[in-house]
Amino acid sequence: MSVTGFDPVASLAELRHEFGEHGGVNMSVEASTTFTVMQAETMPEIFHGRRGPDREGRGCYLYGRHFNPTVHHLGRQIASIEGAEAGYCAASGMAAISSVLLQICAHGDEIVAADALYGGTFALLRDYLPTRCGIRTTFVPVTDEGAIRKAITQRTRLIYVESLSNPTLRLADIPRLAGLAREHGIRLVVDNTFTPMTLSPIPLGADVVVHSLTKFINGASDIVAGAVCGSTDFVASLMDLHFGSFMLLGPTMDPEVAFRISLRVPHLAIRVAEHSRRAMEFAARLDERGLSVTYPGLRSHPDHDRFTALANGGFGYGGIFGVDVGTRSRAEALMEHLQNKDRFGFMAVSLGFFDTLMSCSASSTSSELSDEELRRAGIAPGYIRFSIGYTGTLEQRWTQFERALDSIGA
Ligand code: PLP
Repeated sequence: MSVTGFDPVASLAELRHEFGEHGGVNMSVEASTTFTVMQAETMPEIFHGRRGPDREGRGCYLYGRHFNPTVHHLGRQIASIEGAEAGYCAASGMAAISSVLLQICAHGDEIVAADALYGGTFALLRDYLPTRCGIRTTFVPVTDEGAIRKAITQRTRLIYVESLSNPTLRLADIPRLAGLAREHGIRLVVDNTFTPMTLSPIPLGADVVVHSLTKFINGASDIVAGAVCGSTDFVASLMDLHFGSFMLLGPTMDPEVAFRISLRVPHLAIRVAEHSRRAMEFAARLDERGLSVTYPGLRSHPDHDRFTALANGGFGYGGIFGVDVGTRSRAEALMEHLQNKDRFGFMAVSLGFFDTLMSCSASSTSSELSDEELRRAGIAPGYIRFSIGYTGTLEQRWTQFERALDSIGA
């Protein structure tokens, strides 16, 4: 149980069960793109945002790019594990992120963001938004409160961070950042992709949480999807006919996709706990072997104590760790051995899969950053990000890992 007393497992269990059309234990997929009304006068009411689905998903629906019952149900599942009033889903994590930023910021507005972020988000903030939309971002180290304070101006509308930064695994001090945001009348937006169940930014004070559901929440690396959680008003604003970024830019999730993901949310807690248990064990053994390991579960990690204090408890420290083996060529040799000789995991980007995924961040998911930005963010050329899976036995996987380390003399 966290400092906030929020328990994502209990919260999800309290969600009203959605039965299928014929009493099925799973809900039905509502694939229709348009919905009838029984009285003609209802239609303009929905168009003006005065009628719509309620928090339970009951009520009026309009059109597939607006709310859809199946997508709405998945949105409520994600909102419940995040302790948010409301949630809705998008076609990708980037669709969720860009829609939220464009919902809050207009031309001339500013964002203060962490300098270590997923490369796609970094490029959106550094390149796309200022040149296409006139929205400028100042990047600061997420742990430097003074720098964040200094970067906030009259035009700043939000602070943007990842709960645990990709790939450097620094923890955002969410209660502190939330206090700072409140003090300046701006919002704190947190990407919680790395730490679903483990950390709950909204109970800790964040205004909006975004997710790439593509990762742990879906868990099978077969679907690209995203979600936004926040207040009921904020989620409703995304569907506004004149200013709603979901309604007007159309990053809508397909209901069949929502249905498939919704079946995987109930076992997310079990999966996350096992990802974390294995990651902790490997990180500790690699550390003992003398390797340079980054993992918040290790006492040597600079954010270990704060992570312990802010985490929900029972889910460990997440399924991802980093190992710096010195050079890019050593990193590549290690990964090739792990994949091609040992079948330990896959050389692939992404994370949260049931098998282990590994990539050299500087030359893959953070390659949008310049050499100077990589250096400032602390992403070394030989740094491998491991998203630890739970297939095979732990000891079998460790034997494979040791063999691969021996092969590069690490
Ligand atoms: N946020 C984080 C932390 C990510 O790692 C990623 C993708 O790797 C994204 C967002 C983007 O998500 P998607 O690929 O679903 O658009």
